[in-house]
Amino acid sequence: MYHNYALQIPQEDVQLSDGDDEIDAGPVNFNVPQQAPETYFTVPGICLNSLVYMDNIGYKYYKNISRNNKMYLVCENQKNKAEFCPSTAIVSVDINENWLRSNIRHNHFPPIVDIPVAHLRRSIGIAGTTTGRLSNSIRHIYNNEIVENPDGAKNYTFLQCQSRVRRMRQCSRPQSVDTIEELSNILSLEQNKSYSSTLQRPPSRFF
Ligand SMILES: [Zn+2]
Repeated sequence: MYHNYALQIPQEDVQLSDGDDEIDAGPVNFNVPQQAPETYFTVPGICLNSLVYMDNIGYKYYKNISRNNKMYLVCENQKNKAEFCPSTAIVSVDINENWLRSNIRHNHFPPIVDIPVAHLRRSIGIAGTTTGRLSNSIRHIYNNEIVENPDGAKNYTFLQCQSRVRRMRQCSRPQSVDTIEELSNILSLEQNKSYSSTLQRPPSRFF
């Protein structure tokens, strides 16, 4: 299904920080859009496997629960204590049914979201943490991915990319260990199997 994102989301003055502080709804304003949303699309979230739901007016929601073939969403500002927004929405779990119903009006304007940056950030995150590509330089990853996402590159610098990939690589490093036995246990985990080819189990006395 084709969506003209450019018509729905203002693209100028777009700046997304690369962290959890991207939300800046400003002061609560009750002159917010009055029309009810009807459709939605998804955008990659900040975390690698997360998804943000965005209605056709530009409001963002996170998934809460799924029940009876419906997915219940909450406004992103439900996490924001200072600017709490009670709005919720329902979509079908069948993504081909592209309808969204919102229950309560938002008490803030839609956030400014740079969708190309969201996609670029996601593809950099995947490229930077995929097993087998962990030794690729971040510069190499950035250069590759901005070719695929040239629009995202306008607002996502190499430095932002670098700090993101470093942080993600640090998170995915195995925990530190005290004994060979512990190391062996950790290396036997599925996610670490690429490191484990040279370690014997049980560990040899002559290791
Ligand atoms: Zn809201």
